[in-house]
Amino acid sequence: MANIEELNPQQMAAVNHVEGPMLVLAGAGSGKTRVVTHRIARLIEIGILPSDILAVTFTNKAAEEMRSRIRSKKNAQVLASTFHSLGARILRESISLLGFRNDFAIYDEDDREKLLKGCLDQLRLSNEKGLLKQMQIDISKAKNDNEGPEIKSSDPVFDQVYAHYQNKLKECNALDFDDLLFLTVKLLQENESARKEYENRWLFVLIDEYQDTNHSQHLLAKFLVAKHNNIFAVGDPDQSIYSWRGARFQNILNFERDFPGAKVVTLDQNYRSTNMILQAANQLITKNTTRYEKKLWSNLGEGSKIGIFMSQNERREAEFVVHKILETIRDHHIAYDEVAIFYRTNAQSRTFEDALLSRRIPYVIVGGLSFYQRREIKDILSYLRMLISNSDLISFLRTINIPRRGIGATTLEKIVEQSALRHIPIFSFCEDLCDQPNLCPEVKLGAKQREGLKSYISLIHRLRNQRPSLKLFELITETIEASHYLNHLQEDPESLDDRKENIDELIGKAAEWEEEREMPTLQQFLEELTLRANTEGQKNVPSVHLMTLHNSKGLEFSLVFIGGMEEELFPHMNSLGNPESLEEERRLCYVGMTRAKRFLYLTATSYRYMWGGPRLMRPSRFLREVPAKYLKNDSPIVYEQESAPSGDPEAFAIGDRVHHKEFGQGIVQKSFHTSFGLTYEVQFDEGTTTRTLVAKYAKLRVELE
Ligand code: ATP
Ligand code: MG
Repeated sequence: MANIEELNPQQMAAVNHVEGPMLVLAGAGSGKTRVVTHRIARLIEIGILPSDILAVTFTNKAAEEMRSRIRSKKNAQVLASTFHSLGARILRESISLLGFRNDFAIYDEDDREKLLKGCLDQLRLSNEKGLLKQMQIDISKAKNDNEGPEIKSSDPVFDQVYAHYQNKLKECNALDFDDLLFLTVKLLQENESARKEYENRWLFVLIDEYQDTNHSQHLLAKFLVAKHNNIFAVGDPDQSIYSWRGARFQNILNFERDFPGAKVVTLDQNYRSTNMILQAANQLITKNTTRYEKKLWSNLGEGSKIGIFMSQNERREAEFVVHKILETIRDHHIAYDEVAIFYRTNAQSRTFEDALLSRRIPYVIVGGLSFYQRREIKDILSYLRMLISNSDLISFLRTINIPRRGIGATTLEKIVEQSALRHIPIFSFCEDLCDQPNLCPEVKLGAKQREGLKSYISLIHRLRNQRPSLKLFELITETIEASHYLNHLQEDPESLDDRKENIDELIGKAAEWEEEREMPTLQQFLEELTLRANTEGQKNVPSVHLMTLHNSKGLEFSLVFIGGMEEELFPHMNSLGNPESLEEERRLCYVGMTRAKRFLYLTATSYRYMWGGPRLMRPSRFLREVPAKYLKNDSPIVYEQESAPSGDPEAFAIGDRVHHKEFGQGIVQKSFHTSFGLTYEVQFDEGTTTRTLVAKYAKLRVELE
């Protein structure tokens, strides 16, 4: 049974909808994701084949969750996947139509950067003024907007780099993340038989988090449903937070135009959060001007006020968070995995980690530099990639001198250059070089270098030969032994134990992974790891979850902390001065707050070590945009909103510009309590005079900047 009794009438209407396009447009925690899962179960109940159903989610973790829910509800396998994994699947089948081989490698951000760096070098462009980073961003943006290198921009350098980079990828028979969408769309645009194939493949397509689709994903969705038109999308425009990756929340607002005849369902009951949290978040988001107005209510009671904590520095902030975690789990019987700490930038995690470690609280980081991006793991995975590819340049460059084989940078450069000029895959070219010493006068190998190259080639050959008879984890063990990889790690004894542990874990994971698959292949293993690396956290014991606000999408926790609620950090520096980006930051705050079921804390510090030095911080405007009645102050110092006397429109924070009738303009330096109530220390006359003013008498006004 699809547990229909657990759905409200609007949810039920969405679940029972069968044919034609439908959009569920609803706020956070209203059951959108749940409706997607139930609808899949419903479709199966009425006799639709699981293989005719495709569900697209935003992260691999969400996809896994959806698959397992369907499995437990209906004992059926449906394809639940991210857009990127879906692209990879389609391209594995059909990319030969675009002139690639279907055993392509998938390059992660790090590989992509290396390849692009090589391109800039070859084009004799120096990485001045962050050219590399800029090109990376611009290429990604072009691909997400579905613009290939043949479309000329106004910047000839960009055009040249983009075209060169794309050629290099093809030579390596590799795709970057954006290609997984870009090339899939290209395939469907250019090839009629592919188009026919894939518009017939799935009869029902369901898409979660539709507000964060970019142009390529939007086009892909349109192709997939072009024939049967059974698209079912759910989303919340207020939670669109990926415009920097090309997401366009207009896609969701244009749904009815793009899919004529679409029915729209709205959901207005929130099943996640207490009213305190929900209303506070609702109030915050009303500050955005471009939005689709929705109402949300919850019957989960009033709940506790949102705790505000202002501290002197990051360490204190983290100590407070840890203290509150321990107190709350004790008083309310909450498990560690019901607790999350969110932050705006990855760099903030360190201090929280230290504080958690010192109290021995288990934690896991979701996103950030993940397990699969660690050096030792990437080294081994690169070796494995060499077992299936002759042309994977980045994996070749990574492994050729592990262990040291005496092939220096200049020689390598020559080898790479000549293999490209002769259009011979890099590994094949190395084989030729060893077999025919006179093949290439441009590359002069000394005896030692030739030996080194030979030993590398024979190692790869040996592993390739062994591969069919070994289990995946055995192949990994064999690769480590045959390459004397542990000796190589000994060069850095300090990190040796850590790295060994990680390698053991990789072997364990491979064994587990293989166990769970019917027909496991090395290629599939590598693909899944690369695609998953972005969001996965490891979890063996119930752990506190740490992640950026961006990674918190779709998740929910009983107890949530958002750290670093400070101007220039959140909202982020880059968004100031741009109203659209500022609204996106506010949506991000809305996403973060609405993850909380019962307890929410917003914390900030006055000093923070940032951009290479200590900085004086001011509380985030978002703190002030939440009406004081939803907040309680847990700080020993400064910030006070709750007890601002009635009639006083709002309390001020340190750094706020205020106006006093008699003294003129000033800046708040401190706020504290005296027997008169809330009191401020305000600096007037450009810093020459400081006055102590009792809030309820001084009648300070906000000085608009
Ligand atoms: P978000 O916008 O954050 O992605 P969402 O709209 O996808 O949220 P869900 O995650 O599907 O919301 O649901 C939020 C919570 O409410 C989940 O714990 C879900 O199980 C629960 N829920 C949803 N609908 C119902 C219902 N009808 N009865 C009981 N619980 C429900
Ligand atoms: Mg959801």
